[in-house]
Amino acid sequence: MEEVNKNSAEEPRKLNFIEEIIESDLASGKVSSIMTRFPPEPNGYLHLGHAKSICLNFGLAEKYGGKTNLRYDDTNPTKEDTEYVDSIKEDIHWLGFQWDRELYASDYFDQLYEWAEKLITMGLAYVDDQTQEEIRLGRGTVDKPGKNSPWRDRSVEENLRLFREMKAGKYAEGEKVLRAKIDMAHPNMMFRDPLLYRIKFASHHRTRDKWCIYPMYDFTHGQCDSIEHITHSICTLEFDVHRPLYDWFIEKLGIYPSHQYEFARLNLTYTLMSKRKLLELVQKGFVSGWDDPRMPTLCGVRRRGYTPEALKMFCEKIGVSKRDQLMDIQLLEWCVRQDLNARSNRYMVVQDPVKVTITNYPEGKVEWFDCPLNPAEPEGAARKVPFTRELYIERADFMEDAPKKFFRLKPDGEVRLKYTYIVKCEEVIKDDEGKVVELRCTYDPSTRPGGDGEWRSVKGTIHWVSTEYARKVTLRNYDRLFTLADMSQVPEDKDYKDFLNPDSLIFVDAFAEPALLEDASGIAVQFERTGYYFKDTDSTEQNPVFNKTTALKDSYRPE
Ligand code: ATP
Ligand code: MG
Repeated sequence: MEEVNKNSAEEPRKLNFIEEIIESDLASGKVSSIMTRFPPEPNGYLHLGHAKSICLNFGLAEKYGGKTNLRYDDTNPTKEDTEYVDSIKEDIHWLGFQWDRELYASDYFDQLYEWAEKLITMGLAYVDDQTQEEIRLGRGTVDKPGKNSPWRDRSVEENLRLFREMKAGKYAEGEKVLRAKIDMAHPNMMFRDPLLYRIKFASHHRTRDKWCIYPMYDFTHGQCDSIEHITHSICTLEFDVHRPLYDWFIEKLGIYPSHQYEFARLNLTYTLMSKRKLLELVQKGFVSGWDDPRMPTLCGVRRRGYTPEALKMFCEKIGVSKRDQLMDIQLLEWCVRQDLNARSNRYMVVQDPVKVTITNYPEGKVEWFDCPLNPAEPEGAARKVPFTRELYIERADFMEDAPKKFFRLKPDGEVRLKYTYIVKCEEVIKDDEGKVVELRCTYDPSTRPGGDGEWRSVKGTIHWVSTEYARKVTLRNYDRLFTLADMSQVPEDKDYKDFLNPDSLIFVDAFAEPALLEDASGIAVQFERTGYYFKDTDSTEQNPVFNKTTALKDSYRPE
């Protein structure tokens, strides 16, 4: 009992700053329960950065007994698609979260429109006829105040009429916009009469052709939060300058006071997480699709064999910070290994084979060894591995002129073939070019584990497969997609695509023990001494394909 307590009494981690705010809001009675939302724009597939936001929003609600809405931020009809809507739901479920309500900003278009008219009536919004360029120039700069639009002082009646005409489709795109009337000299540029609505003759994935005016992000997000009584609206740091405007709309409209809090986006070394650029990689064929296992998308890492458990562990480890962070991708890979090491099944697979003949092992004989699927549970489930006279081992596990510290196979040297016998290399056969083509060995029958012989140990143990029973499999050995650690530092005269890693995918024909193909675990497996691999959806009966999830070992240790 004592023991157990000692192990489980891990120090509880410190609260992150959002948890501190929530606990204080609950304690003071400012809110009675918490409500969060995850607000993706359905213009691409979710990536690892989104996973952080999902773990945070859903995780906080779970922790404090609240709820989370899934709200699609679908105010830009030209980029959005139901394909993305569906993939987002699949990815959130895969991570293991369930939203309370599935909602769309477009559900609120009528309400938002009504609020726009309300602002006009209050003298807080006007229709502007300036061109996009004129509006941009008129905003001024951080050090220079902007200029009032010549249309700024239209009457409420005229503004209402024009806005209704905009809605009715009387004007072309760009001809008119609706702007808030705040202060063209405001030190926060966001307050210099921000745009509320623009004209877009585009069919929307849900509202179809009902609207030809669409609300801007700032006029949408806070009000949607408010309608849903979101208590803590969590977004990334770049939105901090938007917060005063978020509060301004809520205050002027006199609606439920949601509050916005910002945290640092996740950036990862050797990784890009902009949907726009990821889309370009897909469209230009640099990757096979959004779910290419090299992509940082959730469907990509899923196909690669990363697990939701590993992603959650990673999000928990990196915490929530208020300063931008470039996280080491090795920490993520470490989490993947931690998770898979604990629960993945083991198999032997030889990638670069050299034939071994056990000359004193009878021809035609086969012994089936019971080998644990996971060495952490030696008495647990087992697989049967056939041992025969002819085997494959890795070419790299043999060395002719081996240094002293080489504990694998060498001439006259001994090694244990994993789970089975100790063998000794008696003869090296080479082809005309001097390449090793066969190793003739003898085995010592007394070294059978669990047999009658006295236990004898040798320094090296290597993996192997029976040539007769080996199954051919295709491996896709993946490496990082980019060669530059900090992808925000692409030099001016270069493009991010200049840093694509030409060796990010290498195909290998390999030989696997037969049980691999019967694996039903549904998660990545460990190829012993090599790495973790996950069976790909492209696999057929004839040609099984395995994606490299990550290497087995790394010198990396988290701090
Ligand atoms: P991108 O720039 O990749 O298109 P985005 O922020 O435009 O990302 P959204 O679909 O608008 O993508 O994001 C949904 C939610 O996920 C937002 O709350 C956003 O702040 C959050 N999010 C997006 N990228 C990251 C990231 N790298 N780290 C943490 N949160 C992120
Ligand atoms: Mg966005």
